[in-house]
Amino acid sequence: MENPCLYAGTIMKRLIRFLPLALALTTSLPGTASAVTLVMDYSKDTSGFFAPASDARTSLEQAATDLSNVLANGQLGALSNNVITGTASGTNAIATWNLGFTNPSNGGAETLSNPDAVPGFAADEIRIYVGWRNLTGSVLGQGGPGSAGASLGGGGSPSNWIAAVNAMDTASDVMMNRGGGPIIGTLNGNLTLGATTATYSLEFGSFVGNLWFDSDTDNDSITDSSGTLNSFWNLDLGLPSGGQSDLYSVALHELMHAIGFGTSQSWTSLPADPNISGGHLSTGVTGLRITDNVSQEAVMTPTITVGTRKSLTTTDLQYLGAIGFDVIPEPGTTALLGLLGLGLLRRRSR
Ligand SMILES: [Zn+2]
Repeated sequence: MENPCLYAGTIMKRLIRFLPLALALTTSLPGTASAVTLVMDYSKDTSGFFAPASDARTSLEQAATDLSNVLANGQLGALSNNVITGTASGTNAIATWNLGFTNPSNGGAETLSNPDAVPGFAADEIRIYVGWRNLTGSVLGQGGPGSAGASLGGGGSPSNWIAAVNAMDTASDVMMNRGGGPIIGTLNGNLTLGATTATYSLEFGSFVGNLWFDSDTDNDSITDSSGTLNSFWNLDLGLPSGGQSDLYSVALHELMHAIGFGTSQSWTSLPADPNISGGHLSTGVTGLRITDNVSQEAVMTPTITVGTRKSLTTTDLQYLGAIGFDVIPEPGTTALLGLLGLGLLRRRSR
């Protein structure tokens, strides 16, 4: 189930999709940074297209750095313990958390069963698993937040059960919401001990994400040669030429989906807003580029003109703030310049 995300151009139109959040209730960290750090994890990339010092890797890292630099430090807590216990008069309720993500090379489900173990999640650290896959049609890339699950149990006196579960729920939210940033999702349900049933609502924040880019741009079901990729994609940090899709721009867009923009419970809880359309800002919404104060269509609208680059705008930052991030510079002078026509949104195959 995917909500299509059009990244379209006036000449060529190309598609990006973001992944909806997958919640799983299964039966079954440190350092001081100057900002929220988006760690690109290449351990699941089997393509070789993110080789060290490659243009693609350099551009992705630059997009991650530019996004990091607008997310203030000190806002996300470390994951110091994935086993959360609530106690009431000797009765215990226990949640053992795991985190999940989609393998960026083969689409398989991956689970971090002990997410507080090495390397863990330090304060202000979000890890994004990146790679390349053969995507069909005009899809350029896909990204989204990871999932989370918890194994729940406990024991003691049924008369203290509800209090114990409530204590676990409260402690879990403190740890798993990280004290800031968006709420990615919530695990809801009931836990019964003897004849007593307690309800729980366990929230979790941004720890992991995943994204991948299209490595079959000519749609022949064969992974492209590096030469083919080089002509289709603008892989380096120089501005794209006409007809090229800009990896930096797509990376920036998908990284924002990976940390909850358009993809989190906090996003879907936002009030009705004409500047929002599904998981994106509405087509034509603009902002001021934070680098030079020039008006530009926001990164998080569904469309981009092929052959151009987008950089972060004040409007993108405003909505990062709306879903819970502490953003710098503080939005507030943002100019929402309204909607343009919808003609650009029309999809066209390449
Ligand atoms: Zn998108």
